[in-house]
Amino acid sequence: MTILVTGGSGFIGSHLVDHLLSETNESVIVLDDLSTGTADNLAHLDTDRLEMRDGDVRNAETVADAVIDAGTVYHLAAAVGVENVVENPLASLQTNFKGTENVLEAAAEDGTPVFLASSSEVYGKSEDVPFSETDDAVYGPTTAPRWGYATAKATDEFLALAYHEKHDLPVVVGRYFNIVGPRQTGQYGMVIPTFVDQALAGEDLTVYGDGTQTRSFTHVGDAVEITHELLGNEDAHGEVFNVGAPNPTSINDLAKRVIELTDSDSEIAHVPFEEAYSEDFEEPDQREPDVTKLRNTLGWAPEADLDRILTDVIDERTSDTDDRTSDTDDRTSDKEEASAR
Ligand code: NAD
Repeated sequence: MTILVTGGSGFIGSHLVDHLLSETNESVIVLDDLSTGTADNLAHLDTDRLEMRDGDVRNAETVADAVIDAGTVYHLAAAVGVENVVENPLASLQTNFKGTENVLEAAAEDGTPVFLASSSEVYGKSEDVPFSETDDAVYGPTTAPRWGYATAKATDEFLALAYHEKHDLPVVVGRYFNIVGPRQTGQYGMVIPTFVDQALAGEDLTVYGDGTQTRSFTHVGDAVEITHELLGNEDAHGEVFNVGAPNPTSINDLAKRVIELTDSDSEIAHVPFEEAYSEDFEEPDQREPDVTKLRNTLGWAPEADLDRILTDVIDERTSDTDDRTSDTDDRTSDKEEASAR
């Protein structure tokens, strides 16, 4: 049986491909347009069990051709994060709406199981932490583009559950909470790679707002293991799960720990959110998953282990300094990850 991973050249997708190739005997097809992903993420894999297809999930025919060749689908391709949607609303929204509908429609033909990568962003600006899967979502107005990412992911979830209800399609929705690890780029505002690059370059670590906002960080290795286990578990089909580690960290504490672990002379620079975004930009203060459902279904859930995450990211970047640290100027700061996921 062959496994299709859309977005498999991206950060989480490439770790999922590694995991599937090492934990199963299946072949893997990656469908990716390389818009935010890169072939470099899979360049270490020298196997004829991997096939790369350059294609856009907004194209129904491209998706159908890939799904028909697969026995299982992990749908991770998306325009990722608030920043992407704010800067490029139409293409981002279409990728997230149409891409998911194309995958589900094609999968429904043969009842092919689908994992849908969703986001903690679907909880919006709810303050009712920790978030459980059936909690209310709270969004701002449609005139504020930042809510487009949340509503696109929420609509994807509605679609997946509707295909399950109507076609008995085996779908699992996983809401990722700040997944972090090697290969993540700081280019789209992800906080940990950005802080690590700034600390290694001896630059100030840019913290947006007062830095008391908290986030739950999850190691990508745990996230892909859970992703694989959930789709393989029939009890999970037709269900939504938080995929994240509890016990959040404040962005200030995160910045301090990065400085300590990199042994850097950098300092923390606080910058008002309005300088990064518009005056009316809304920043949820807290994001923390309730993982009771995940633990009850799989028998385990990830633990918060910030030092393991940071050490892995620092190791990657210090062993790959030439490629990674020269472009810190291009990188935004913690604004997306602190706000978006
Ligand atoms: P990423 O940008 O590294 O991965 C997304 C991949 O999708 C990239 O390889 C990109 O090239 C591809 N892609 C984008 N548009 C495409 C299109 N139209 N057709 C084909 N491929 C396309 O980001 P990631 O962090 O690995 O995110 C993977 C998934 O997890 C996404 O669905 C994202 O919304 C979700 N997610 C991630 C996080 C996180 O913390 N990283 C949190 C919540 C949700």
